[in-house]
Amino acid sequence: MTCMTCDPKLDERELAATAPAGLTIERIAVRADRLSLLVRIAPDCARYTTPAIARRLASARPTLPHHTCINDEGSTFGCVMAHTSVPHALEHAIIDEQVRLTAEEACSATDADGPHPSDAVPFVGTTVWLDEAVGLARVEVSFHDDLLALRALRTATALLRDCLSGPSNNDPER
Ligand SMILES: [Zn+2]
Repeated sequence: MTCMTCDPKLDERELAATAPAGLTIERIAVRADRLSLLVRIAPDCARYTTPAIARRLASARPTLPHHTCINDEGSTFGCVMAHTSVPHALEHAIIDEQVRLTAEEACSATDADGPHPSDAVPFVGTTVWLDEAVGLARVEVSFHDDLLALRALRTATALLRDCLSGPSNNDPER
């Protein structure tokens, strides 16, 4: 029943222009209920986050460490945020951005006492290495609205670019 009218190639081109050289969204498939992304990390680029990257991510998006996340060390993304794969960080950044955008739309579209769609079904995601040696991973993220999800993907990719691109002069801890 669901008809997808987006042109993934268009978004792919836009992302190619904004993505960091080390992190490329090679393919975007818009499924009925989720985005499926082919993510490639360049050979000379770190595949895993560091404490410095985690600090920048948390500073930019304070809600990220509190995301529910099934991992080996705990029940939140914060447990692994400083040493997890870059594609996994992208997955959570996309979800975080979707939550923000959905809440914004709900606030502008409905009365304050109306039900908020953001309360309905939480966003979920998965990240798997397809071939870690070559830096290829698949990231899947559910959505309520495909266009909103693509916007979130764009913003999240830009955020990752900023956080991966080394120490910032604005870093308050440096
Ligand atoms: Zn996770």
